[in-house]
Amino acid sequence: MLIDTHCHLDAAEFDADRQEVAAHAFSQGVRGIVIPAVERANFAIVRELAARVRGGAYALGIHPLYVARAADADLDALRAEVEAALGDPRFVAIGEIGLDFFVPGIASGPPRERQERFYAAQLAMAREYGLPVLLHVRKSQDVLLKHLRRHGRIGGIAHAFNGSAQQAAAFTGLGFALGMGGAMTYARALQIRRHASDTALEHLVLETDAPDIPPAWLHPPHRRNRPGELPGIARELAALRGMTPEAVARATTANALRVLPRLAAALAAAQD
Ligand SMILES: [Zn+2]
Repeated sequence: MLIDTHCHLDAAEFDADRQEVAAHAFSQGVRGIVIPAVERANFAIVRELAARVRGGAYALGIHPLYVARAADADLDALRAEVEAALGDPRFVAIGEIGLDFFVPGIASGPPRERQERFYAAQLAMAREYGLPVLLHVRKSQDVLLKHLRRHGRIGGIAHAFNGSAQQAAAFTGLGFALGMGGAMTYARALQIRRHASDTALEHLVLETDAPDIPPAWLHPPHRRNRPGELPGIARELAALRGMTPEAVARATTANALRVLPRLAAALAAAQD
């Protein structure tokens, strides 16, 4: 059994065949799919979608790249939605939140201080409700860590993690698992592959980030990633570590259930 800890199954890329994509993942042994929100407009969408998908779970949050068009009042809307979701077994985390300081060419991303304000406010919410967070990390590791240290132990998943060995150790030391996905399948992704092989296995979880970050074996024109690619990602991680895919599946599933404590209830709800 595998758990896709990060999948944007609500994305428009899946509009034509969302249920088939979910059924295919289930047939491949993917028993849990965590669907993060990115902005107020999709809070209800991910909640309803998680209930329609076998093993579906969801997170609520405002993504750093959506902060520019978010209103301050969206944080109040998030709080209300989180409070309402606390009784829902499929609700597992605050996310996707974080900081994105990757600016290709010209400065096009949301201003840094506004990103930091939304991130800090959502960390405070996670702390208040005792929820883990799903972190978007891009060229922002040290600032993410600075805020995390201020908020006490929150924990969760550093999704699509890349960074130095020291930064990886800092995240795992704060109770975060590192999300390993499609990027790890590229031979040139040396740093990510080193995290995959050298990080203690207890700190790793699997993810696809579908429809994004297609693994190396998806070639044009079929580059759309899907949660059913997760077994291939597990096999790649197993090969990098010299382990069996079964052992990787067992360990990463246990890790996902540890860093997302509410996920066990979501998976149990899927049995009903
Ligand atoms: Zn994402």
